[in-house]
Amino acid sequence: MPKLNNDLMKRPDFKGDSRSVHLFQPFFRTDEVLMHVRECLNLGWTGDGFKTVEFEDAWSQYAQCKNALFLNSNTAGLFMCFETLKEKHGWNESAEVITTPLTFVSTNHAILNAGLKPIFGDVDSSLNLSPRSVLENITCNTKAVIFVGIGGNPANYHEILAICRENNLICILDAAHMAGTKCNDVQIGSDADFTILSFQAVKNCPASDAGLISALSDEDHATLKSRYWLGIDKSTFERSKSNSRYKWEYNVDYLSNKYNGNSIAASLGLVSLKYLDEDNKRRRMLSALYDDILRTRNSDLFRTIPHLEVGEDYRYETSRHLYQICLDSSINRNELILALNARDIYPGVHYVSNKIYRPYLNLPTTKTPNADLLSQSIISLPLHLRMSEDDVSIVCDALIDSLQQVDG
Ligand SMILES: *Cc1c(COP(=O)(O)O)cnc(C)c1O
Repeated sequence: MPKLNNDLMKRPDFKGDSRSVHLFQPFFRTDEVLMHVRECLNLGWTGDGFKTVEFEDAWSQYAQCKNALFLNSNTAGLFMCFETLKEKHGWNESAEVITTPLTFVSTNHAILNAGLKPIFGDVDSSLNLSPRSVLENITCNTKAVIFVGIGGNPANYHEILAICRENNLICILDAAHMAGTKCNDVQIGSDADFTILSFQAVKNCPASDAGLISALSDEDHATLKSRYWLGIDKSTFERSKSNSRYKWEYNVDYLSNKYNGNSIAASLGLVSLKYLDEDNKRRRMLSALYDDILRTRNSDLFRTIPHLEVGEDYRYETSRHLYQICLDSSINRNELILALNARDIYPGVHYVSNKIYRPYLNLPTTKTPNADLLSQSIISLPLHLRMSEDDVSIVCDALIDSLQQVDG
């Protein structure tokens, strides 16, 4: 068993809860966050600009990308991305986007909302979209592929990016789980046409509620920037700093929505980002501990979902936003989750296939046998920074007991 460091738990502000183990429990360095928040309040600037600009700079440096736009959510980034792509390329309603059914609905809502057609590809055992399925679903109407790295897992990303390049398709990375997932030591996604992060409350780089979009081309970045605040051509922050006599003056060039983030969220995000690598390392350690303990239990009632570490040309490091297992078909998932709840342990499900939700019922159906099956058999075990090594053992013991209880 690897020796794990307990630095986080030794911190005076750490309040572990050893009784119940929840799926997610965000951890904030309160004093450090408040220093940034205080700066906002003293300056009287809590909106877009100031800390959001500081966050964009910090992210650009962290991710080694030149274009970063801080937003109110990942959802905002996805919606803005598909709307601007549709406008730029003049796509009509026959335009298809290959996507995964195993994701949070934001991914697919954004496609539908832009009046484009989501085409559900299938996933493989990694829970990520499979390259083979992407190839099978390409038609003359396919314009883009959106890839979601579930739980931070980079498996299949580079194969699918290569397929996009070969077939002249736009590649969008929904990196909601991938803050800090690295490829050859650099944040993943700098090679996708668009990469969209989430800093929502229970994601692994939390900023209460926020997101970020990073475009590969400067032209796309400029387009996004012209749209991110209702199509207004100058932000209030830029105007406040300018030497123009007419600080009040702006023009509205486009009909757009309110996608911008704010300085309070960015304050939280700046501290989360500062410790992101350290926190993700802790997540990987807890996951390795799960792996080690569960391996010794040698149960055929479930299998764990490993994250890709070495690809053909790349070395990867996962953010480990999630620790997921897949249950044997003999196990009733709801019963298992209730049995775990009775032991004060609260797992989650990421995700139920989006195909069963009403907005998706009337779409052209594609065959997704793996996603359909996994939709009913995956669970996410608790994984967060307030967990101790003992908590991991407690969850493992409870899982094995509960599996035996509900088996058959
Ligand atoms: C959380 C999540 C989103 C949406 O993120 P928000 O910042 O809450 O809008 C999108 N896609 C996936 C895969 C997610 O998990």
